[in-house]
Amino acid sequence: MTSSPDSPLDLLILGGTTEATELAARLAAAHPEVKALVSLAGRTAEPRPLALPMRVGGFGGAEGLAAFLRAACVKVLVDTTHPFAAVMPFNAANACKAAGIPRLKLIRPAWTPEPGDNWHEVSDMASAAAALGERPRRVFLTIGRQEIGAFAAVPQHHYLARMIEAPEPGHGLPHLTVIRARGPFDLAAETALMREHAIDTVVAKNAGGAASAAKLAAARALALPVVMVARPARPEGPAVAETQAALDWLVAHGLVPTLRGV
Ligand code: NAP
Repeated sequence: MTSSPDSPLDLLILGGTTEATELAARLAAAHPEVKALVSLAGRTAEPRPLALPMRVGGFGGAEGLAAFLRAACVKVLVDTTHPFAAVMPFNAANACKAAGIPRLKLIRPAWTPEPGDNWHEVSDMASAAAALGERPRRVFLTIGRQEIGAFAAVPQHHYLARMIEAPEPGHGLPHLTVIRARGPFDLAAETALMREHAIDTVVAKNAGGAASAAKLAAARALALPVVMVARPARPEGPAVAETQAALDWLVAHGLVPTLRGV
């Protein structure tokens, strides 16, 4: 459990995403009187700066989050966690129900295949590893450091893994090259990277959004197959795809009474 802020909060934003950064910037610029806080899990040692105050670290499950919401008198929660954050959206749904406050999910649309794409859609990371087959391949993993362990089951492949922070030792991949980088990435650089490393297969999570879509265009241009991992389930409830729609929703529901004309 974490301590509550000193004064009551209008809004708690569950962040860790571009959407949270955007929402914070727009709120802070247009309506500094709205008392909002962004919560980060703490996965990234040096998170991008935010225009609103932030807190870092888990709450201690749905009960811990509900206790935080009550203690801080939070009026509304906007869950902008990443489409692949599988636990926190359910914690948020349960905590908001327990605390009796509304919740909005802000989630970017999933990518869909375009003409020329050669996607193999799978439901999870273990299925993505299995989809690579027996023959050693040269695989570009664009999945984040927490998930690369799934590929230890198929160690015969050569992996190029791009991630913000280095993986923990003991990942079990004997042929692994790590590139540490944070998007956005452009088409020319993605194409050059895949050529340089003689990549023959791309593994991606269907995160959606523009910042990391260039790898898909590069795979299309190079006629490479993409093993695309589908999003995990998320709780029922209102959801919007863009920051402006989230602001409109807050206004329309009178949840942040001072929020006007953002
Ligand atoms: P997760 O599996 O859904 O959550 C695991 C635990 O991390 C939660 O139970 C919670 O701990 C804590 N947590 C998650 N988001 C939090 C937040 N915004 N504030 C405070 N605690 C949080 O999430 P994840 O996949 O590990 O992702 C963690 C964070 O990284 C999220 O903020 C997400 O938006 C961001 N992110 C994830 C991905 C991805 O691919 N999964 C990609 C980019 C960014 P307690 O139960 O103790 O409260």
